[in-house]
Amino acid sequence: MREVREDKELLLEAAREVAEALVEAGGNAFVFTGAGVSTESGIPDFRGPSGLWRRIPPEKFTIEYFHANPLEVWRLYSELYRSMSGAKPNEAHYAIARLEALGLIQGVVTQNIDGLHQAAGSRNVIELHGSGSRAVCLECGFTDSIERWLVKVAGGVLPRCPVCGGLMKPAAVFFGEELPREALRRAFDLAHAARVVIVVGSSLTVYPAALVPEEAARRGARLYIVNLGETSLDWMAEIVVRARAGSFLPLVVGEAERLLGRG
Ligand SMILES: [Zn+2]
Repeated sequence: MREVREDKELLLEAAREVAEALVEAGGNAFVFTGAGVSTESGIPDFRGPSGLWRRIPPEKFTIEYFHANPLEVWRLYSELYRSMSGAKPNEAHYAIARLEALGLIQGVVTQNIDGLHQAAGSRNVIELHGSGSRAVCLECGFTDSIERWLVKVAGGVLPRCPVCGGLMKPAAVFFGEELPREALRRAFDLAHAARVVIVVGSSLTVYPAALVPEEAARRGARLYIVNLGETSLDWMAEIVVRARAGSFLPLVVGEAERLLGRG
């Protein structure tokens, strides 16, 4: 493991190495992201010192608490949603979308629910923790944009499914809930085929999501990590970059475009 900090020359050298690995892998690669990729967009890291969990106790976002107090949790969720909804993608999101457009990654597996990868133009986005901008019926799986349900909640009305009358829930995965099966399957398919995986903005402490890059690395994929703090897989990584993703990833794109002759 080689650690690179904010030094212009060393970062460029690391970016060149990541770009070379991506080109060599011929598209058998993916990016895995966590909250850190979106903090530069102003979205609070839930767990950080100014994170949301300091204001809203995480116990209220357990599936058990939701079943017992659905309207209260819907109201809290409205607050959470408002704190996300003005955010715009940053340079890191755009760089990841560009890597996909260049054919260098299959897609992005994310722990985030903010939709910023899609907003930046990423096409294959696997949302392991669900979507923050959708609602889902707990009975029949009917799913819909969350906005109209938030209007009902503001009016004191508990969201009910228009198809079956079941309880609607924000489609973000709550504590104690299983991860969406189809998303997990697609994520592990990528992990099994990958020759390169780039982790961005995740400390890799939330399971089972963190198993995705771990599985890829255990099967021999080259692992690169871009994260300001330590992660649980630093020891497995070829390079760990302790720099802002928004400054490092555009360097990778630049180097990759140069290698592909598209610079
Ligand atoms: Zn339903």
